Amino acid sequence: MPYPPVTDAELAVLRAQLGRPARGAVGIAARCVCGNPTVVATAPRLDDGTPFPTFYYLTHPAATAAMSTLEAEHAMPELAALLDDDETRDAYRLAHESFLRDRAAYGDVPEITGVSAGGMPTRVKCLHALAGHALAAGPGVNPIGDAALARSPWSPERCVCVEPGAALREGPTG
Ligand SMILES: [Zn+2]
Repeated sequence: MPYPPVTDAELAVLRAQLGRPARGAVGIAARCVCGNPTVVATAPRLDDGTPFPTFYYLTHPAATAAMSTLEAEHAMPELAALLDDDETRDAYRLAHESFLRDRAAYGDVPEITGVSAGGMPTRVKCLHALAGHALAAGPGVNPIGDAALARSPWSPERCVCVEPGAALREGPTG
């Protein structure tokens, strides 16, 4: 398991970000520069048995808003056109495979075998999922997620959290 367990304080931040309790959280996959989660790693099967393909789930409100704005501004066809390039298309397929490997560490769920997120490996369907993967994996893994983040005014390098560093300040007792 690549991630340490999620603390109660982190769960509290996730709940505030999402406006509901995070389901199936198995780790914090990416963080704001202040330490708050930006992406939660989610179990491929939730406690109620539901298969959950989106292993990397974008939680930060400013990040999700930025991706929603890009989608509303019709950035997806432009980003999808990047896949006309052979190198980018190959990289996107590798990103898909990398995503599936990461998720497999948390269990094999037959219902979603070969299903990743965001439209991978050949389409661009959800910038939230692709940006979440790009943030979790780091630059150079998911070319479409990287491109979406590059177009976004939000960045994990510049904290715009409502409560900066809440996860770090509150400690593990919650
Ligand atoms: Zn922050």
